[in-house]
Amino acid sequence: MYKHILFATDLTEETEYVIEKVRTMRSFTSATLSLIHVVEPLPGYSYAYLGIEDIEGQLIMEARQAIEKLGTKLNVGKNDQFVEVGPTKTKILKIAEDVKADLIICGSHGRHGLSLLLGSTANAILHGAKCDVLTVRLPEEQ
Ligand code: AMP
Repeated sequence: MYKHILFATDLTEETEYVIEKVRTMRSFTSATLSLIHVVEPLPGYSYAYLGIEDIEGQLIMEARQAIEKLGTKLNVGKNDQFVEVGPTKTKILKIAEDVKADLIICGSHGRHGLSLLLGSTANAILHGAKCDVLTVRLPEEQ
C-alpha cells in the first residue's frame, strides 16, 4: 500500500473537506504524510502603495504559519511541511519526486474553480505525476 502521501493544499476553506479524506487515507495505509503549498511569484513591481513593502515575503510567511497549523492538526513534522515559491504544478511534482511520494492527494478544484470541471492544477498533477493521484471531488458550489 501507499508509503508516502503528499497532500497539495491551496489552504482555502475547502481544504477542510479534503483534510478528512487525507486523514482517513493515511490511517488506512500508515503512510508518511507530507504537506505542500506553493506561493506563485508575483510580478516584480513594487506593492509599496498597498502599504506592504514585501508582499511576497508576507504571503510566504502566512503560508508557513498556515502549513504549520495544518501540520499540527494532521500530526505532520516540520521536515515534511513544504512551502515552495514558483510555478505551482512544477513545484508540486518536484516535491512529489523528492520525497518519493507514491500518492498525491489534491482537491478537484480550488477556490475559484468551477465545481464540475477539474481545476488546472489538479489536471496538471494528474497528467504530470509519476505516481497515483487522488483528486477529491469537492462539494458542489451553491
Ligand atoms: P485548481 O486546479 O487551482 O482549481 O486547484 C485544484 C487543487 O490543486 C486544489 O484543491 C489543491 O489541492 C491543489 N492546489 C491548487 N493550488 C495550490 C497551491 N498553490 N499549492 C498547493 N496545492 C494547490
